[in-house]
Amino acid sequence: MERKSINFGYAIVQDRQIDFDANKHEICRAVAVAEPTLNLCISCGTCAATCSAGLFTDFSLRKVILLLKRGETEGLLKEVSKCMLCGKCQLVCPRNVSTRNLVIQISKALINGKP
Ligand code: SF4
Ligand code: SF4
Repeated sequence: MERKSINFGYAIVQDRQIDFDANKHEICRAVAVAEPTLNLCISCGTCAATCSAGLFTDFSLRKVILLLKRGETEGLLKEVSKCMLCGKCQLVCPRNVSTRNLVIQISKALINGKP
């Protein structure tokens, strides 16, 4: 007798495993040289919670920094261009990350290949 499979509404999702070694890390290294406070970020998300651009878009500096550190830089320039450089995040960052300059250096590095 043929068995009919029941559709529960689930589907196999794309693997989101990160192959850290396969990613490009030059951009992150270059940004860390230009703005060493990048290394102080603990991904707490306080910057994203107070972000002016985040009020109008899905922009998150925390996400940008995480993607940069993972070497997942595809589409990152479009993402950082949403930042208005208002500096609010710099006032609230518990680790004193120089966030404004960080955004500038990330943009420079992505455009020129190095800051
Ligand atoms: S507030 Fe500072 S430490 Fe927290 S995620 Fe943003 S940059 Fe990193
Ligand atoms: S400087 Fe950019 S990331 Fe920071 S609060 Fe302003 S818009 Fe958001």
